[in-house]
Amino acid sequence: MTIEELWPSFLSTQMMMLLVFGIALLLVGLHRLPGQSGWDSVPTATATATRTPIPTSTPTVTLTASPTVVPPTVTDTPKPPPVRATPVPHEHGIAWPFRGSISQGFSGGHSGIDIEAPYGREVGAATSGTVTFVGGSSCCGYGRYVKISGPNGVVTLYAHLSSFNVSSGQRVNRGQTIGHVGTSGNSTGPHLHFEVIINGRPVNPLGQLP
Ligand SMILES: [Zn+2]
Repeated sequence: MTIEELWPSFLSTQMMMLLVFGIALLLVGLHRLPGQSGWDSVPTATATATRTPIPTSTPTVTLTASPTVVPPTVTDTPKPPPVRATPVPHEHGIAWPFRGSISQGFSGGHSGIDIEAPYGREVGAATSGTVTFVGGSSCCGYGRYVKISGPNGVVTLYAHLSSFNVSSGQRVNRGQTIGHVGTSGNSTGPHLHFEVIINGRPVNPLGQLP
């Protein structure tokens, strides 16, 4: 019995060769299955080396802005607003002739205030206005004094002066030097006797000054 007898007659020799070749291809393909190292398989070490490593996604650290909790300062008592941050213009616009200690206040027997000052200190006009009197006697009473008629019927008086810088009838501005502190008249030492007269009546200057 020959191979031609066993081989079906409808199959030609070429088809048989194709069949053998196909089986060979199938065997090669089985050897190339993943995970198996065959006679023609590429070493897995090389395969893994060429594999581009998948970058491990860096965890996005979401920096949640933690709000800085500022503890309320309990000990800080709020400061009261300054009383005279901006000087409010007074009703009559009366200014201090100069700032100083009050040696004697206003009372029924004292129609003004006595402001301590060294001899010769400049005396400023408390209001703008017109000088209505410059003079007096060095012996008695007010001594040498000045009167200024300001706006709204406000008259200011400056007594016990040592000298004058203004003359009667002169216009003066508030703050302008009208004379100097002295001790003329009924005075025991250098000071300014200052009066504020509103509508003919002396009032307490401290109630009018800023
Ligand atoms: Zn006085």
